[in-house]
Amino acid sequence: MIDETHDPDLRSWVESANAPGCNFPIQNLPLGVFRTRGDTESRIGAAIGEAILDVGPWLEGHNLNGYMTLSSVQRRDLRRVISSALQRGSSRQDLIPQSDCEMLLPAAIGDYTDFYASIHHARNVGSMFRPDNPLLPNYRHVPVAYHGRCSSLVVSGTPIRRPSGQLGGGRFGPTQELDYEAELGAFLGPGNKLGEPIPIAEAERHIAGVCLVNDWSARDIQRWEYQPLGPFLAKSFATSVSPWMVTIEALEPFRVSAAEHESPVLPYLRESGSGAFDITLEVWLRSSSMEKPFRVSRGHFKEMYWTLAQMVAHHSSNGCALRPGDLMASGTVSGPAKENRGCLLEMTWKGTEPLVLPDGVRRMFLNDGDEVILTGYCEREGFVRIGLGSCGGVIGAAC
Ligand code: MN
Repeated sequence: MIDETHDPDLRSWVESANAPGCNFPIQNLPLGVFRTRGDTESRIGAAIGEAILDVGPWLEGHNLNGYMTLSSVQRRDLRRVISSALQRGSSRQDLIPQSDCEMLLPAAIGDYTDFYASIHHARNVGSMFRPDNPLLPNYRHVPVAYHGRCSSLVVSGTPIRRPSGQLGGGRFGPTQELDYEAELGAFLGPGNKLGEPIPIAEAERHIAGVCLVNDWSARDIQRWEYQPLGPFLAKSFATSVSPWMVTIEALEPFRVSAAEHESPVLPYLRESGSGAFDITLEVWLRSSSMEKPFRVSRGHFKEMYWTLAQMVAHHSSNGCALRPGDLMASGTVSGPAKENRGCLLEMTWKGTEPLVLPDGVRRMFLNDGDEVILTGYCEREGFVRIGLGSCGGVIGAAC
């Protein structure tokens, strides 16, 4: 529901929030968990411009798990309260500069599930390994996913150690095919009781907000280990998460119709209305010899085959309990064009078409010292652009 908090004419008394192109204008108000340097206690804040408003007076706790138990009505009420506190004309409050803060993971994440919701990604990867039959027969019917590890979920900025593993051919050692995957994450809440599936019409109410996820992948380890049970050590060494959760309420102006399905889906996945969101994700890369990062790709979340609501309905359709603070990731966000490919496996077509960096250096996969930065934003005529912030990590030496 679009309400007064989305009004494009709203301005904040925090001047940095009114700058054009700012990630965190007053229409956004993402929530995150921060700690001022030298402090041991974490607090919940809302990002506004280049600052953070401590939302402790309205939202208790040291992470967003409590927020995620709230109903969608309560979440909307809280958004209105924070929005009016930050509007021009409201009394000024103490703010904390973001540059003085360390950001932490938004929630204590109990379970992490990674989907495979881009048909473009599935087709591209499938055609590399099965040129005659790129898409497996289940793809248009089942939102495919696997269960990931929570112990290796890290907040943006955490260095990523190159994993070692079985590479096939009797070899064990550091991966030679380290890759990123640009994904959208969704934090869940309030969730369901074990044995009680969430109907598709209610599914979206169980999404508290979204973030950026980099599902780092070791392709040589993955290729050798994935059959028949799916990814394991090729993924569980690290997954980076951006610190600011953009609430589902903030995304309301960017709602669009989902991509057309190529064949009818089963009734429990049938959605009415516009279940997709127009979110652009970009991948930027900076090698250790480059001064500035350069943009490798740009993908559009609205082109995903499955919506967030369909992922929730499917995930809980067997009665599996989804809990506040669980993280669901979309899978690599890729599109039909080469510039939309959200991982190096696709971008370099399995390491056969090198990516040429601005300084002429070629890349098939990631080198030590490379920094990968994901960014995301939403834009629509008549509304104020909002950003998801960024999710970065530098590749370090092998463990
Ligand atoms: Mn993934």
